[in-house]
Amino acid sequence: MPLYKEQGIVLRTMKLGEADRIVTLLTQGSGKVRAVAKGVRKTRSKFGARLDPFTHVDLLLYKGRDLDIVTQAEIITSFREIRDSYDRFAAGETILEAIDRVAQEHERSVRTFMLLLGALRQLAQTDEPPVVVDAFLLRLVALAGFRPHFSACASCGTPGPHMRFSVAQGGMVCESCRSGAAVRLAEATPPYLATLMDDHWSADAPDDVRREGSGLVRAFVEYHFDRPLRAWSHMPR
Ligand SMILES: [Zn+2]
Repeated sequence: MPLYKEQGIVLRTMKLGEADRIVTLLTQGSGKVRAVAKGVRKTRSKFGARLDPFTHVDLLLYKGRDLDIVTQAEIITSFREIRDSYDRFAAGETILEAIDRVAQEHERSVRTFMLLLGALRQLAQTDEPPVVVDAFLLRLVALAGFRPHFSACASCGTPGPHMRFSVAQGGMVCESCRSGAAVRLAEATPPYLATLMDDHWSADAPDDVRREGSGLVRAFVEYHFDRPLRAWSHMPR
């Protein structure tokens, strides 16, 4: 069985038998990987907390036929600041679940990995976890090929600003293109979301604009992912 080195971020873990766990990781070079960590649930496991969710680790793995096997794990960043705060943790769960939904096993995507790493770095130091989540989700749907239009009409390309947003049509829509389901937004909401998607992980905006923006991001993600994220139910709104 060939050995390989990777760095990855732990997305989730699942019990396997008495002492082992199956660890799901997003790796930099091999996409999503599911691997067995043997003895990880024993109190004196050599892995300790190195394979807890959010942890960025350097790994040595054996390539198995079905599941790989973790033989070594060294922490690069523990992201303990995320686990130690309820709000950051709840926001982080949403980020990990969304990545798990989008990433494919053994399909390399360095950009997805870098997006996840960047989002966790922001989350570890933010006082506004929900805004980081909104910025992350916008960037993730854009990376997945569903980039929402916040200025020009998503349907005919007429330059904005436009007043209505249609999830099904892919963003802001002009008065001649809009379908019945397009919702009217506050003037500040589209530029606020565009900033989160393309420029910064936070942006000044009144509370009602943030709330409207968050609702829109969720509706957009739910539409393209086919169902809501489970972790949303734990997140403060
Ligand atoms: Zn149009």
